[in-house]
Amino acid sequence: MEKNIVLIKGDGIGPEIVDEALKVLDKVCEKYGHTFRYTRILMGGESIDEYGVPLTDEALDTAKAADAVLLGSVGGPKWDDLPGHLRPEKGLLAIRKGLGLFANVRPAYLYPELKAACPLRDEIIGDGFDMVVMRELTGGLYFGARETVEQDGQMVAKDTLTYSEEEIRRIAVKGFDIARKRRNKVISVDKANVLDSSRLWRKVVHEVAASYPDVECVDMLVDNCAMQLVKDPKQFDVILTENMFGDILSDEASMVTGSIGMLSSASLNETKFGLYEPSHGSAPDIAGMDLANPIATILSAAMMLRYSFDLDQEADAIENAVKQVLADGYRTGDIMSDGCKQVGCKEMGDLIAERV
Ligand code: ATP
Ligand code: MG
Repeated sequence: MEKNIVLIKGDGIGPEIVDEALKVLDKVCEKYGHTFRYTRILMGGESIDEYGVPLTDEALDTAKAADAVLLGSVGGPKWDDLPGHLRPEKGLLAIRKGLGLFANVRPAYLYPELKAACPLRDEIIGDGFDMVVMRELTGGLYFGARETVEQDGQMVAKDTLTYSEEEIRRIAVKGFDIARKRRNKVISVDKANVLDSSRLWRKVVHEVAASYPDVECVDMLVDNCAMQLVKDPKQFDVILTENMFGDILSDEASMVTGSIGMLSSASLNETKFGLYEPSHGSAPDIAGMDLANPIATILSAAMMLRYSFDLDQEADAIENAVKQVLADGYRTGDIMSDGCKQVGCKEMGDLIAERV
């Protein structure tokens, strides 16, 4: 199979962790006979330094023409004093919007070998924690009309939460599709006892659910969901929810796994295209020191193979290689525990590539 992948190494630890993911992808190509062609574009701080903006139109067009984008991370203290529209993170918002990436998939999986890092008691976790959050990414409060005005001698601020049936339907379809590849259960999270947008959400989700009789669909109010995630996390397979609820709940779910250096993510549109990146940031405090954990980025590359290229076997090979390395006792600093062997970013990449 031949694919064109756009690489955004980015800032901070971005270049180091993307290089390790490339090592692993090279191994996959060698073993399974694929050809991946890479084009580098700049985004975030490195683009600001080179072009004065966090994402150029040309870079966005290059990304649009690719089969998928693999991203390290953007941002860092170097660009903190720039005005809002010139911040590195604006590059990320611009590429999400520009590519219509309305679906954000964040798996939260607790590796049995890393159980010690989980903040919940053993009897709550039971035999494991393995779920994904399917979050709507281009609508809701973050993109609604906003305004701050002076009224009766005080400031009044307003944000609006808007969803159309079509916006809800397309993310719901993504949620049910992914549930079919997993344990066939969708928990749709809303606040339908209070919000009109949530009542529409619930109605449309039920319509979509009717086309997936093999997938169980449960409604849950967002406040209850926040509680259930720590009370009984095993009940979750796929959480399907709107933009802000998803932002909050995906952070909560990721903490159950104990380590941000292990978690991948994908942002998808209606086509097979996707942007894949680790859930963590650019970790400027450890950049360039060979200390970063590359596993979140390597697992993001595995998601790319699975979702954009339908290469399930190859994705399994990467995920199994990660499991083996952990079982063999190798750890980067962020997941280190007694009796394990501490390795750097490069060695971790080598060990995983070897086991693919
Ligand atoms: P952002 O705003 O970009 O999400 P952040 O301020 O949330 O960034 P991160 O960059 O995610 O922060 O870093 C938070 C902490 O986690 C830092 O101490 C960082 O060193 C650590 N960290 C993040 N990613 C990794 C990784 N891959 N390996 C090891 N440590 C990491
Ligand atoms: Mg962060």
